[in-house]
Amino acid sequence: MPPDRRGERQAALRVALEGEGLDGLLVTHLANIRYLTGFSGSAALLLVRPDSTTLISDFRYAVQAQAEAGEAAVVEIDQKSVWDRLERLLGTRPAASLGIESQAITVRDAERVSALSRCRLVPTADLVERLRAAKSPEEVGAIRSAAGLAQAALADVLPMVRAGQTEREVGAALEAALRHHGSEWHPFPTIVASGPRAALPHARTSARVIQAGEWLLLDFGAQVDGYCADLTRTVVVGARADERQQTIYQLVRAAQQRALEHLRAGMTGREGDALAREVIAARGFGEAFGHSLGHGVGLEVHEAPRLAPTEESLLPLHAVVTVEPGIYLPGWGGVRLEDDVYLGPAGAVLLSDGRTELVELV
Ligand code: ZN
Ligand code: ZN
Repeated sequence: MPPDRRGERQAALRVALEGEGLDGLLVTHLANIRYLTGFSGSAALLLVRPDSTTLISDFRYAVQAQAEAGEAAVVEIDQKSVWDRLERLLGTRPAASLGIESQAITVRDAERVSALSRCRLVPTADLVERLRAAKSPEEVGAIRSAAGLAQAALADVLPMVRAGQTEREVGAALEAALRHHGSEWHPFPTIVASGPRAALPHARTSARVIQAGEWLLLDFGAQVDGYCADLTRTVVVGARADERQQTIYQLVRAAQQRALEHLRAGMTGREGDALAREVIAARGFGEAFGHSLGHGVGLEVHEAPRLAPTEESLLPLHAVVTVEPGIYLPGWGGVRLEDDVYLGPAGAVLLSDGRTELVELV
Protein backbone atom coordinates (compact mmCIF):
# COMPACT_ATOMS: atom_id res chain seq x y z
CA MET A 1 0.00 0.00 0.00
CA PRO A 2 1.28 3.50 -0.82
CA PRO A 3 1.54 5.82 2.19
CA ASP A 4 -1.63 7.72 3.10
CA ARG A 5 -0.75 11.40 2.58
CA ARG A 6 -4.11 12.89 3.46
CA GLY A 7 -3.28 13.64 7.09
CA GLU A 8 -0.10 15.51 6.23
CA ARG A 9 -1.88 17.41 3.44
CA GLN A 10 -4.59 18.57 5.82
CA ALA A 11 -1.95 19.50 8.40
CA ALA A 12 -0.10 21.58 5.80
CA LEU A 13 -3.37 23.30 4.88
CA ARG A 14 -4.04 24.13 8.54
CA VAL A 15 -0.62 25.78 8.74
CA ALA A 16 -1.52 27.84 5.67
CA LEU A 17 -4.90 28.78 7.18
CA GLU A 18 -3.23 29.93 10.36
CA GLY A 19 -0.87 32.03 8.28
CA GLU A 20 -3.86 33.69 6.65
CA GLY A 21 -5.60 34.27 9.99
CA LEU A 22 -8.51 32.01 9.04
CA ASP A 23 -10.24 29.60 11.36
CA GLY A 24 -11.60 27.47 8.59
CA LEU A 25 -11.73 26.91 4.84
CA LEU A 26 -14.72 25.88 2.81
CA VAL A 27 -13.27 23.77 0.00
CA THR A 28 -15.54 23.64 -3.03
CA HIS A 29 -13.06 22.79 -5.79
CA LEU A 30 -13.48 19.05 -6.40
CA ALA A 31 -9.83 18.36 -7.23
CA ASN A 32 -8.86 19.95 -3.90
CA ILE A 33 -11.44 17.85 -2.08
CA ARG A 34 -10.01 14.73 -3.70
CA TYR A 35 -6.47 15.74 -2.76
CA LEU A 36 -7.38 16.32 0.90
CA THR A 37 -9.78 13.41 1.45
CA GLY A 38 -9.62 10.93 -1.45
CA PHE A 39 -13.28 11.52 -2.37
CA SER A 40 -13.57 11.37 -6.16
CA GLY A 41 -17.29 12.03 -6.68
CA SER A 42 -18.81 15.01 -8.46
CA ALA A 43 -20.73 16.65 -5.60
CA ALA A 44 -19.30 17.58 -2.22
CA LEU A 45 -18.34 20.37 0.11
CA LEU A 46 -15.43 20.11 2.51
CA LEU A 47 -15.17 22.13 5.69
CA VAL A 48 -11.66 22.19 7.14
CA ARG A 49 -11.37 23.69 10.61
CA PRO A 50 -8.48 23.68 13.07
CA ASP A 51 -9.85 20.62 14.85
CA SER A 52 -12.05 18.90 12.30
CA THR A 53 -12.50 17.94 8.65
CA THR A 54 -16.06 17.37 7.47
CA LEU A 55 -17.06 16.13 4.03
CA ILE A 56 -20.66 16.77 3.02
CA SER A 57 -22.11 14.92 0.06
CA ASP A 58 -25.49 13.74 -1.11
CA PHE A 59 -27.45 10.50 -1.32
CA ARG A 60 -25.81 9.36 -4.56
CA TYR A 61 -22.43 9.22 -2.84
CA ALA A 62 -23.44 7.88 0.58
CA VAL A 63 -21.48 4.64 0.13
CA GLN A 64 -18.63 6.00 -1.99
CA ALA A 65 -17.93 9.01 0.24
CA GLN A 66 -17.62 6.87 3.34
CA ALA A 67 -15.43 4.31 1.57
CA GLU A 68 -13.08 6.83 -0.02
CA ALA A 69 -12.92 9.56 2.61
CA GLY A 70 -14.12 7.94 5.82
CA GLU A 71 -10.64 7.68 7.30
CA ALA A 72 -9.73 11.26 6.44
CA ALA A 73 -12.92 13.16 7.26
CA VAL A 74 -16.20 13.00 9.09
CA VAL A 75 -18.67 12.19 6.31
CA GLU A 76 -22.14 13.73 6.41
CA ILE A 77 -24.77 12.89 3.82
CA ASP A 78 -27.70 15.20 3.24
CA GLN A 79 -30.66 13.82 1.35
CA LYS A 80 -31.77 17.23 0.13
CA SER A 81 -28.99 19.77 -0.15
CA VAL A 82 -25.31 19.84 0.76
CA TRP A 83 -25.62 23.61 1.20
CA ASP A 84 -28.43 23.25 3.76
CA ARG A 85 -26.28 20.82 5.70
CA LEU A 86 -23.32 23.21 5.60
CA GLU A 87 -25.46 26.05 6.86
CA ARG A 88 -26.68 23.91 9.74
CA LEU A 89 -23.12 22.93 10.62
CA LEU A 90 -21.92 26.51 10.57
CA GLY A 91 -25.08 27.72 12.29
CA THR A 92 -24.43 25.62 15.36
CA ARG A 93 -20.78 26.54 15.44
CA PRO A 94 -19.96 29.69 13.44
CA ALA A 95 -16.45 30.39 12.25
CA ALA A 96 -15.16 33.89 12.94
CA SER A 97 -13.47 34.08 9.56
CA LEU A 98 -14.07 31.36 7.02
CA GLY A 99 -12.01 31.19 3.87
CA ILE A 100 -13.76 30.45 0.58
CA GLU A 101 -12.10 29.42 -2.66
CA SER A 102 -12.90 32.43 -4.78
CA GLN A 103 -12.19 30.53 -8.03
CA ALA A 104 -14.64 27.76 -7.20
CA ILE A 105 -17.75 29.15 -5.51
CA THR A 106 -20.57 31.16 -7.04
CA VAL A 107 -21.35 34.57 -5.60
CA ARG A 108 -24.87 33.33 -4.91
CA ASP A 109 -23.70 30.36 -2.81
CA ALA A 110 -21.18 32.50 -0.94
CA GLU A 111 -23.84 35.08 -0.06
CA ARG A 112 -26.21 32.39 1.08
CA VAL A 113 -23.64 30.76 3.35
CA SER A 114 -22.65 34.12 4.73
CA ALA A 115 -26.24 35.20 5.48
CA LEU A 116 -27.35 31.98 7.15
CA SER A 117 -24.21 31.10 9.09
CA ARG A 118 -23.20 34.55 10.33
CA CYS A 119 -19.60 33.74 9.32
CA ARG A 120 -17.34 36.37 7.88
CA LEU A 121 -16.32 34.95 4.51
CA VAL A 122 -12.80 35.72 3.31
CA PRO A 123 -11.96 35.15 -0.36
CA THR A 124 -8.77 33.10 -0.77
CA ALA A 125 -6.86 31.97 -3.82
CA ASP A 126 -4.93 28.75 -4.42
CA LEU A 127 -4.33 27.70 -0.80
CA VAL A 128 -4.72 24.01 -1.65
CA GLU A 129 -3.44 24.44 -5.22
CA ARG A 130 -0.11 25.64 -3.83
CA LEU A 131 0.22 22.46 -1.79
CA ARG A 132 -0.71 20.35 -4.79
CA ALA A 133 2.05 21.87 -6.92
CA ALA A 134 4.76 19.82 -5.16
CA LYS A 135 4.13 16.15 -5.86
CA SER A 136 4.83 13.09 -3.72
CA PRO A 137 6.68 10.12 -5.27
CA GLU A 138 3.35 8.28 -5.66
CA GLU A 139 1.82 11.20 -7.54
CA VAL A 140 4.85 11.42 -9.83
CA GLY A 141 4.57 7.66 -10.38
CA ALA A 142 0.91 7.93 -11.36
CA ILE A 143 1.68 10.67 -13.89
CA ARG A 144 4.54 8.58 -15.30
CA SER A 145 2.14 5.63 -15.68
CA ALA A 146 -0.41 7.84 -17.41
CA ALA A 147 2.25 9.12 -19.82
CA GLY A 148 3.42 5.57 -20.58
CA LEU A 149 -0.10 4.52 -21.31
CA ALA A 150 -0.70 7.52 -23.59
CA GLN A 151 2.44 6.68 -25.54
CA ALA A 152 1.40 3.04 -25.90
CA ALA A 153 -1.95 4.18 -27.29
CA LEU A 154 -0.26 6.49 -29.78
CA ALA A 155 2.11 3.72 -30.86
CA ASP A 156 -0.92 1.52 -31.64
CA VAL A 157 -2.68 4.17 -33.66
CA LEU A 158 0.02 6.00 -35.64
CA PRO A 159 0.85 3.09 -38.01
CA MET A 160 -2.83 3.00 -39.08
CA VAL A 161 -3.12 6.71 -39.88
CA ARG A 162 -3.52 7.46 -43.59
CA ALA A 163 -4.33 10.38 -45.80
CA GLY A 164 -8.05 10.19 -46.59
CA GLN A 165 -9.10 9.56 -42.99
CA THR A 166 -10.85 12.28 -41.04
CA GLU A 167 -9.53 13.88 -37.89
CA ARG A 168 -12.45 12.35 -36.00
CA GLU A 169 -11.60 8.84 -37.19
CA VAL A 170 -8.07 9.24 -35.90
CA GLY A 171 -9.37 10.79 -32.67
CA ALA A 172 -11.80 7.91 -32.12
CA ALA A 173 -9.05 5.33 -32.68
CA LEU A 174 -6.73 7.14 -30.29
CA GLU A 175 -9.38 7.49 -27.58
CA ALA A 176 -10.30 3.81 -27.90
CA ALA A 177 -6.63 2.86 -27.59
CA LEU A 178 -6.24 5.08 -24.51
CA ARG A 179 -9.15 3.33 -22.83
CA HIS A 180 -7.90 -0.05 -23.96
CA HIS A 181 -4.52 0.60 -22.34
CA GLY A 182 -6.21 1.52 -19.07
CA SER A 183 -6.78 5.26 -19.03
CA GLU A 184 -9.53 6.05 -16.50
CA TRP A 185 -10.85 8.83 -18.69
CA HIS A 186 -9.76 11.47 -21.18
CA PRO A 187 -8.62 14.38 -19.03
CA PHE A 188 -9.48 16.84 -21.84
CA PRO A 189 -11.03 16.66 -25.31
CA THR A 190 -8.52 14.98 -27.60
CA ILE A 191 -7.16 17.34 -30.23
CA VAL A 192 -6.50 15.94 -33.70
CA ALA A 193 -5.78 18.82 -36.08
CA SER A 194 -4.65 18.42 -39.68
CA GLY A 195 -3.10 20.71 -42.29
CA PRO A 196 -3.87 24.39 -41.74
CA ARG A 197 -5.96 23.48 -38.68
CA ALA A 198 -2.72 22.52 -36.92
CA ALA A 199 -2.16 26.27 -36.66
CA LEU A 200 -5.02 26.48 -34.14
CA PRO A 201 -3.36 25.72 -30.79
CA HIS A 202 -6.64 24.51 -29.27
CA ALA A 203 -8.33 23.13 -32.36
CA ARG A 204 -11.44 21.02 -32.01
CA THR A 205 -11.17 17.64 -33.70
CA SER A 206 -13.28 17.97 -36.86
CA ALA A 207 -14.62 15.99 -39.82
CA ARG A 208 -11.84 17.36 -42.04
CA VAL A 209 -10.18 14.80 -44.33
CA ILE A 210 -6.42 14.58 -43.84
CA GLN A 211 -4.43 15.20 -47.04
CA ALA A 212 -1.07 13.69 -47.99
CA GLY A 213 1.87 15.86 -47.03
CA GLU A 214 0.04 17.63 -44.22
CA TRP A 215 0.83 18.04 -40.58
CA LEU A 216 -1.23 16.05 -38.12
CA LEU A 217 -1.09 17.40 -34.58
CA LEU A 218 -2.29 15.13 -31.77
CA ASP A 219 -2.71 16.53 -28.24
CA PHE A 220 -4.08 13.91 -25.89
CA GLY A 221 -4.00 12.70 -22.35
CA ALA A 222 -4.46 9.75 -20.07
CA GLN A 223 -5.43 9.39 -16.43
CA VAL A 224 -4.20 6.96 -13.76
CA ASP A 225 -5.39 7.09 -10.12
CA GLY A 226 -6.89 10.47 -10.98
CA TYR A 227 -3.54 11.88 -12.23
CA CYS A 228 -3.22 13.20 -15.76
CA ALA A 229 -0.56 13.10 -18.43
CA ASP A 230 -0.68 15.59 -21.31
CA LEU A 231 1.24 14.92 -24.52
CA THR A 232 1.47 16.40 -27.99
CA ARG A 233 3.09 14.93 -31.08
CA THR A 234 3.06 16.40 -34.59
CA VAL A 235 3.67 14.09 -37.56
CA VAL A 236 3.59 14.33 -41.36
CA VAL A 237 1.02 12.09 -43.07
CA GLY A 238 1.45 10.33 -46.41
CA ALA A 239 4.67 11.98 -47.56
CA ARG A 240 8.16 13.01 -46.57
CA ALA A 241 8.39 16.38 -44.84
CA ASP A 242 9.25 19.23 -47.18
CA GLU A 243 12.06 21.64 -46.40
CA ARG A 244 9.92 24.19 -44.59
CA GLN A 245 8.28 21.49 -42.49
CA GLN A 246 11.73 20.16 -41.59
CA THR A 247 12.98 23.60 -40.62
CA ILE A 248 10.04 24.54 -38.42
CA TYR A 249 9.90 21.11 -36.81
CA GLN A 250 13.58 21.07 -35.91
CA LEU A 251 13.31 24.57 -34.48
CA VAL A 252 10.45 23.57 -32.16
CA ARG A 253 12.38 20.47 -31.21
CA ALA A 254 15.54 22.45 -30.41
CA ALA A 255 13.49 24.83 -28.26
CA GLN A 256 11.99 21.93 -26.32
CA GLN A 257 15.39 20.25 -25.90
CA ARG A 258 16.90 23.40 -24.46
CA ALA A 259 14.09 23.72 -21.93
CA LEU A 260 14.30 20.05 -20.95
CA GLU A 261 18.04 20.35 -20.38
CA HIS A 262 18.03 23.52 -18.31
CA LEU A 263 14.69 23.71 -16.55
CA ARG A 264 15.12 23.69 -12.76
CA ALA A 265 13.03 24.13 -9.65
CA GLY A 266 13.80 27.55 -8.19
CA MET A 267 13.65 29.35 -11.53
CA THR A 268 10.76 31.73 -12.05
CA GLY A 269 8.03 30.64 -14.45
CA ARG A 270 9.25 33.40 -16.76
CA GLU A 271 12.83 32.13 -16.78
CA GLY A 272 11.62 28.60 -17.53
CA ASP A 273 9.46 29.83 -20.38
CA ALA A 274 12.34 31.85 -21.81
CA LEU A 275 14.53 28.76 -22.24
CA ALA A 276 12.42 27.68 -25.20
CA ARG A 277 11.07 31.06 -26.27
CA GLU A 278 14.54 32.51 -26.86
CA VAL A 279 15.39 29.71 -29.32
CA ILE A 280 12.23 30.33 -31.34
CA ALA A 281 12.44 34.13 -31.17
CA ALA A 282 16.09 34.13 -32.27
CA ARG A 283 14.99 32.64 -35.59
CA GLY A 284 12.23 35.19 -36.06
CA PHE A 285 9.26 33.07 -35.03
CA GLY A 286 8.60 34.63 -31.61
CA GLU A 287 5.22 35.97 -32.72
CA ALA A 288 4.19 32.50 -33.88
CA PHE A 289 4.67 31.01 -30.39
CA GLY A 290 1.67 32.71 -28.84
CA HIS A 291 1.02 30.59 -25.77
CA SER A 292 3.00 29.85 -22.66
CA LEU A 293 5.61 27.08 -22.53
CA GLY A 294 3.88 24.87 -20.00
CA HIS A 295 1.68 24.24 -17.00
CA GLY A 296 1.55 21.97 -14.00
CA VAL A 297 -0.25 18.63 -14.36
CA GLY A 298 -1.67 16.44 -11.64
CA LEU A 299 -5.24 15.80 -10.54
CA GLU A 300 -6.08 18.47 -13.09
CA VAL A 301 -4.59 18.76 -16.53
CA HIS A 302 -3.92 22.47 -16.00
CA GLU A 303 -2.73 23.39 -12.52
CA ALA A 304 0.06 25.23 -10.76
CA PRO A 305 2.78 26.17 -11.52
CA ARG A 306 2.90 28.02 -14.84
CA LEU A 307 5.79 28.49 -17.27
CA ALA A 308 4.83 31.78 -18.89
CA PRO A 309 6.43 35.09 -19.95
CA THR A 310 4.54 36.98 -17.21
CA GLU A 311 4.99 34.46 -14.39
CA GLU A 312 7.30 35.68 -11.64
CA SER A 313 6.58 33.00 -9.06
CA LEU A 314 9.15 30.28 -8.49
CA LEU A 315 8.84 26.75 -9.84
CA PRO A 316 8.64 24.59 -6.73
CA LEU A 317 10.78 21.53 -6.13
CA HIS A 318 8.85 18.32 -6.96
CA ALA A 319 6.53 20.07 -9.40
CA VAL A 320 5.42 18.25 -12.55
CA VAL A 321 5.03 20.47 -15.60
CA THR A 322 4.53 20.20 -19.33
CA VAL A 323 7.11 21.57 -21.75
CA GLU A 324 5.24 22.39 -24.95
CA PRO A 325 6.70 24.93 -27.35
CA GLY A 326 4.93 25.45 -30.66
CA ILE A 327 5.05 27.47 -33.87
CA TYR A 328 1.74 28.28 -35.57
CA LEU A 329 1.56 29.84 -39.02
CA PRO A 330 -2.01 30.64 -40.14
CA GLY A 331 -2.87 28.96 -43.44
CA TRP A 332 0.20 26.72 -43.31
CA GLY A 333 -0.17 24.73 -40.13
CA GLY A 334 1.66 24.32 -36.88
CA VAL A 335 3.98 22.16 -34.84
CA ARG A 336 3.78 21.56 -31.11
CA LEU A 337 5.74 19.05 -29.05
CA GLU A 338 4.68 18.41 -25.48
CA ASP A 339 6.29 16.26 -22.81
CA ASP A 340 5.78 16.01 -19.06
CA VAL A 341 8.69 16.47 -16.65
CA TYR A 342 9.31 16.20 -12.93
CA LEU A 343 11.40 18.98 -11.40
CA GLY A 344 13.60 17.05 -8.98
CA PRO A 345 16.69 18.15 -7.03
CA ALA A 346 18.94 17.34 -10.00
CA GLY A 347 16.83 19.07 -12.65
CA ALA A 348 14.06 18.06 -15.00
CA VAL A 349 13.34 14.33 -15.32
CA LEU A 350 11.19 13.19 -18.24
CA LEU A 351 8.03 11.30 -17.29
CA SER A 352 6.98 10.87 -20.91
CA ASP A 353 9.46 9.42 -23.42
CA GLY A 354 10.61 12.70 -24.97
CA ARG A 355 10.90 10.89 -28.30
CA THR A 356 10.34 13.73 -30.68
CA GLU A 357 12.30 12.75 -33.77
CA LEU A 358 10.24 13.69 -36.84
CA VAL A 359 7.81 10.93 -37.83
CA GLU A 360 6.72 10.71 -41.49
CA LEU A 361 3.86 8.28 -41.99
CA VAL A 362 4.62 7.07 -45.52
ZN1 ZN B 1 -1.63 19.03 -24.30
ZN1 ZN C 1 -0.59 21.00 -22.06
